[in-house]
Amino acid sequence: MRLLLLATIALALVGCANSPKQVSSSDGATLAFAPGEQTRNEASPHVAILRPGQPPAPRGGLAGRTISVSKTSDIRLGPKEVVLTFDDGPVPGKTDTILRALDQFGVKATFLMVGQMANAYPGTARKVAAAGHTIGTHTQNHKNLRTVSVNVAEAQIREGRESVAAALRPGGYRPAPFFRFPYLADTTTLRGSLAAQGIVVIDVDIDSRDYYASGSDALRARAVAAVERRGSGVILFHDLHARTATMLPLLLADLKERGYKVVHLVPARTGVDLIASSAPVALPKLETTSPDRG
Ligand SMILES: [Zn+2]
Repeated sequence: MRLLLLATIALALVGCANSPKQVSSSDGATLAFAPGEQTRNEASPHVAILRPGQPPAPRGGLAGRTISVSKTSDIRLGPKEVVLTFDDGPVPGKTDTILRALDQFGVKATFLMVGQMANAYPGTARKVAAAGHTIGTHTQNHKNLRTVSVNVAEAQIREGRESVAAALRPGGYRPAPFFRFPYLADTTTLRGSLAAQGIVVIDVDIDSRDYYASGSDALRARAVAAVERRGSGVILFHDLHARTATMLPLLLADLKERGYKVVHLVPARTGVDLIASSAPVALPKLETTSPDRG
C-alpha cells in the first residue's frame, strides 16, 4: 500500500511549471496536479561537463554564504551565487539520495514540500530538517492557485503549512515561513496575503526543467547551460524525479568546477511560530490560531 501510494503521488506530482491536469489517486480522490511528462530535450551541445566515472569532487568549496530572509527582496545574489530549491517532495528514496549529494558537497538547500506528501512521508520530511536544510511549503495538494477562489487558495496554503508542521513536529522542527506557488502560478492578491502573514514567496530564476522526460545526463547539461546563461539565481528542481537525484552529484561537481557558490536561505525571524527547520529546538505546542501556524 505504501509503495502504491508513493507511486501514485509521484506520478501525479510532476513539475511546478507544467500545465495542471486532473489525476485520480488510488483512493479515488482527485489530485489537482499533473503528470504531463514532456520529451523535449534541450541539452546544450556547447557545455563541457564532467563525465560520469570521473572521481567525485571532495566535500567543500561549493558552500557559499547564508542569507537571512524576511522578504523576497532579501534574496539578492551576486555573480556565480545560486540557491538550490527542491519542490513537491518529500519522496522516500529520491529525497534521501538528494540529501546524500548535498551532504557530499557540504551545501544546504531549500525544500518546498507539498502537505499531502509530508502527510504520507513525515519521516523523510524530518530527515531533511535534521540535515539542516530549510523547509518551506507548496500548498496541500499542489493546486494551481490561479484557478481557484481566494478562499480555497488560502486554505490550500494554510493546510500545506499545517501538514508540513505536523510532519516536522515530532523532531522538534518547524517549517520556515517560505512558500512557492505550484506551477509558479501566483496572483497579486495571494502575494499580498502571504506578505501580510510574514510568509516569503520563493520565486524561481533558473528552471532546470527536470520535469521533462529526459535522461539524467541531458538534464544535467540542460541545467548547467541554464545556470551559465543567467550566471546566478534560484534554481528550481524537484525531488520526485529519479533523474534529478541521479544527476545531482555531477551537477554540483560542474557548478564547483565553474566557481559557483551555493547560498543557503534561512528565515530571518525566529519567533515562536517562525523557527527555521535548521534550528532543532524543543518547542511548546503550536498555537493553531496564529496566521503562521506552520
Ligand atoms: Zn510543484
